[in-house]
Amino acid sequence: MHSNSAQLLDGKALAQRIQTQLAEQVQQLLTSNGRPPGLAVLMVGDNPASAAYVRNKERACAKVGITSFGRHFPANTGQEELAQTIQALNEDDRVDGILVQLPLPEHLDAVSLLHQIHPDKDADGLHPVNLGRLVRGETGLRSCTPAGVMRLLREYQLEVKGKTAVVVGRSILVGKPLALMLLEADATVTVAHSRTPNLPEIARSADILIAAVGRPQLITADWVKPQAVVIDVGINRVTDESGQSRLVGDVDFDPVREVAQFLTPVPGGVGAMTVAMLLHNTVLSYTKAHS
Ligand code: NAD
Repeated sequence: MHSNSAQLLDGKALAQRIQTQLAEQVQQLLTSNGRPPGLAVLMVGDNPASAAYVRNKERACAKVGITSFGRHFPANTGQEELAQTIQALNEDDRVDGILVQLPLPEHLDAVSLLHQIHPDKDADGLHPVNLGRLVRGETGLRSCTPAGVMRLLREYQLEVKGKTAVVVGRSILVGKPLALMLLEADATVTVAHSRTPNLPEIARSADILIAAVGRPQLITADWVKPQAVVIDVGINRVTDESGQSRLVGDVDFDPVREVAQFLTPVPGGVGAMTVAMLLHNTVLSYTKAHS
């Protein structure tokens, strides 16, 4: 390893530590309340990436002692059946968290389904009530991927307060909530997106640069301020010259590693943290329901 190259932020190891702590907490909760926390992941259709994510989530639940109430629906399932399923899960006392795995097949209205989830069981933190709480700086369930980024920054004791943060990407899933969380942590935040002129120049102003776009190698070394913290949220499947398929982020990893001070790898960075935050939210909802 080159002596000037960035330290990697090990989301995978941190996620494992969080899950070990959650497993201990779940054991105690089970003893005192007589039931484990429960999470329902609803998946519709056969998107292979979604299926892999759902498997990961259910495996992680099993490891920490959270019961899965997942349902897998065929691609042609109607809106009403899903809405009724969510209603039933809202009323089911064994279920603390509900999430709808996105994307959904085109005939379904994902936003309307998200609205049906009870805000206190909104494990993904995407319900308007929870997004509203985030805007107001109130406690609530926070979206998992941005919450995972914040936790990673905190665990590595990387100062956010007073820093210049640039978030590239403005989706409701990642970019927007992350910008709000950085603001809440007293960063000076810029949100850049596909219509932003002078993107490299803006990115270069960042002490903390977040890439949440979905374009391999978008963030090249000349976009990065020396010694910046670079967080790569992107997950892209690419095929290299030898025909091998692998996952990469939005950051041109090797060259950027020579400029940045801290950098998240893909895989093993933010992705692993997302699942840990989902479990964290489920346990949080459980403890609130029992308080
Ligand atoms: P999205 O497609 O909803 O949003 C992408 C954003 O990038 C948009 O706001 C768009 O304005 C912006 N953008 C597009 N092209 C751009 C360009 N050339 N320059 C600057 N900005 C541009 O995607 P998303 O759901 O926010 O996900 C972003 C990436 O993060 C994807 O690769 C996704 O797979 C990944 N992701 C990872 C996790 C995780 O757990 N690590 C979770 C969710 C999403």
